[in-house]
Amino acid sequence: MSFSDLGLRAELLRAVTAQGYDTPTPIQRQAIPAVLKGGDLLASAQTGTGKTAGFTLPMLQRLADGPRPSKRQVRALVLTPTRELAAQVGESVRDYGQHLSLRHHVIFGGVGQQPQIDALRPGLDVLVATPGRLLDLHQQGHVDLSSVEILVLDEADRMLDMGFIHDIRRVLKLLPEKRQNLLFSATFSSEIQALADKLLDRPEMIEV
Ligand code: AMP
Repeated sequence: MSFSDLGLRAELLRAVTAQGYDTPTPIQRQAIPAVLKGGDLLASAQTGTGKTAGFTLPMLQRLADGPRPSKRQVRALVLTPTRELAAQVGESVRDYGQHLSLRHHVIFGGVGQQPQIDALRPGLDVLVATPGRLLDLHQQGHVDLSSVEILVLDEADRMLDMGFIHDIRRVLKLLPEKRQNLLFSATFSSEIQALADKLLDRPEMIEV
């Protein structure tokens, strides 16, 4: 099995080859076709399994097919627990999306807001964010989440462990009803299950 068997477009296959990958990992083999179909996904996967490419590649493909975002709008929102993970996901979006003209940015707390506000203004295809700073910028009117097409919760168990459940609930209220939801978690507590039940509509389940 190769990446070209998974239904990815040429621009993404070129980027994958440039990364030096030739074989998709088990999570990529399952997640890529599932996300391309447009349905919700519940994936149990640890860091190191290739989960980032597993959601980033098909997410970019779906975004490449649609219209560009309008002012302050976001088409795909990836929430992460930490700034380190946000930066890492942002690098993957940049690398895998290098042959697509999609606009992306990473925002997190602890740094100045102005560059983030400037990046949000024209609208973004992909916004990778930690929940607190995202809510701050939303409250100030710098970002419009009402037309998000794809939501990814990455390392959802860590987000709950870090006390982000209220922030996540607040973000969910800002999103449109109709969207694709992808939830990644290394562990499955009853709290994660409750979040999955609330968030996901007949999800495809993947365990690696
Ligand atoms: P992740 O689990 O997403 O944090 O990825 C773990 C590491 O595996 C990262 O350094 C990726 O660059 C690398 N990686 C992801 N997919 C593949 C693949 N199909 N083949 C080889 N390495 C990969």
